[in-house]
Amino acid sequence: MEEWIIDKIIEKSKLSKEEIIKTISQRKMQFPDLTEDAILRMLATENGIIPIKRDYKIKEINQRINHVNLSAKIKRKFPPRTVNVKGREARVMNFVIEDESGEIPVVTWDENYIDKIMKSRDGENISIANAYAKENPFNGIVELNLGNGSAISVNQTESPKKEAEKEEYKKIADIHDGEYANINGFITRLFSDDIYLIRCSICKKKVDVECDVHKDKALSKTLRIRGVLDDGLYSSSITFFDKQAESLLSLSQQQDVKEKLNDISFGLYQVNVSAKMNKFNENYSLTARNLVKADYNL
Ligand SMILES: [Zn+2]
Repeated sequence: MEEWIIDKIIEKSKLSKEEIIKTISQRKMQFPDLTEDAILRMLATENGIIPIKRDYKIKEINQRINHVNLSAKIKRKFPPRTVNVKGREARVMNFVIEDESGEIPVVTWDENYIDKIMKSRDGENISIANAYAKENPFNGIVELNLGNGSAISVNQTESPKKEAEKEEYKKIADIHDGEYANINGFITRLFSDDIYLIRCSICKKKVDVECDVHKDKALSKTLRIRGVLDDGLYSSSITFFDKQAESLLSLSQQQDVKEKLNDISFGLYQVNVSAKMNKFNENYSLTARNLVKADYNL
């Protein structure tokens, strides 16, 4: 497990390390499908901590870690190899990155990243977001994997166009009541209970099972997923209805809806959301109108 998350929980909650470890093993019995790391992340978000570290040093990457963000230099590249995976040809590329603390091999199967890395020169800066680290089963060396949800930028020089794009995003705290805005952030939590909203289409009332007056004659069932969106400074509750809920669910490759929700919640997907803000006193509440998976750009 990632020590820095445990340290943050200790700092914020006044729980002792033993209590945290105990809670994790209790939850593990409740949710046998979740890994200890996922449960640790769950505890972190419950305590108001975003379990994303923005600045790993390479020497800290010595175990399985799901969300690695770091800046380093490209040290050495190996030509991509074509391999056969389940009857299909795919390319895989290995390269090595280094910072002042050490070096680590990186693996990617993604054509876009292979392309970017091939065009780069040794010694160039690289920023990596949302990679995962794990041991290579053949040699026991911990490698960084650039997967589906990762993002990289090589020798990042901000073009004017990129600056302009940035302007379009608002911070949650700056959005007025009733305003529509684009927000760039992370889904840090999703609630998997009560995900359908049932209404009677005749009297438009929200019902539990059926309408007192119209029974089950005209019930409409709407997918409604509630979660937490974090823009790096603030977080807000956010609700996804119908199409938005479906595009949210499509971020995960899982089959089952609950598994998808867990996967997204613990995967901390970065998204661009267009949403409407409703403020009740000091409480923010967003309703999503559009959602796309985003590159790391906070
Ligand atoms: Zn009714």
